[in-house]
Amino acid sequence: MRAAVQKILQTLLDLQAVDIRLHEVRARLAAFPKKTAEVDARVAAAKAAVEQSKASQLNTIKERKKYELDVEQWKERVRKYRDQTSQVKTNEAYKALQHEVEMAEAEIAKAEDRLLEQMVNAEEYDRRVKASEKDLKEVEDAARGQRAKIDAEKAAAEKDIAALEAERARAVADIPENLLDHYDRIVRKHNGIALAEVRNEKCGACGMIVRPHVIQEMRRAKGEDELFHCETCTRILYYIEADQPGAPASGPAQQASAATAHGEC
Ligand SMILES: [Zn+2]
Repeated sequence: MRAAVQKILQTLLDLQAVDIRLHEVRARLAAFPKKTAEVDARVAAAKAAVEQSKASQLNTIKERKKYELDVEQWKERVRKYRDQTSQVKTNEAYKALQHEVEMAEAEIAKAEDRLLEQMVNAEEYDRRVKASEKDLKEVEDAARGQRAKIDAEKAAAEKDIAALEAERARAVADIPENLLDHYDRIVRKHNGIALAEVRNEKCGACGMIVRPHVIQEMRRAKGEDELFHCETCTRILYYIEADQPGAPASGPAQQASAATAHGEC
């Protein structure tokens, strides 16, 4: 009884099954730096929020001190004017000093208003500092867990790659070098998928019609080194008789059609 596919095609299908898994694990591995960067960015943003709220808090303390000093200075002037009032001889000089006292008292009132504003601000900034620090702590706690998860997933992916590379070395052992080069070229061109099943007289990867005489030749083909290619996408074609048991178990046909769905022809 004839095998479901030629022996050489079966070795290539086995290799493709390994390569598809390698491709998937490598894609997984390549996504880790971005995930780590996202975690780092969240921590950096939370730290920046703490720094910003602390800067605002510090600023309001400085402003408060400035207005406290203003109040003291204007009060000192009022005392000085009052002292002078007792020594003036003329009504005019007295009135002038009274005017100075009124001006200074108005300045005191203004500075006290601003001081009050800054005290209200200070309460708000204290609240913001506490909230941002709490938020930072939560983000950092979460980041620790996320980094540990990423590290564990990365280690698992690296282990998978090592195992798959060993599996690939075994898979390529029986494939002649020129055929392997040919396969690798198609793999590079088609993002990991070099073989396509002929189904309903069409290439299972790109969907283009495979001419009937090509299918006839494929069905007749017994020679192990006789390969047929899709005229459109150049992938290596294989054909599984509908009533044949023993179709490739790893399902490269489905994977090949999945590649078509992503337009990677
Ligand atoms: Zn094709």
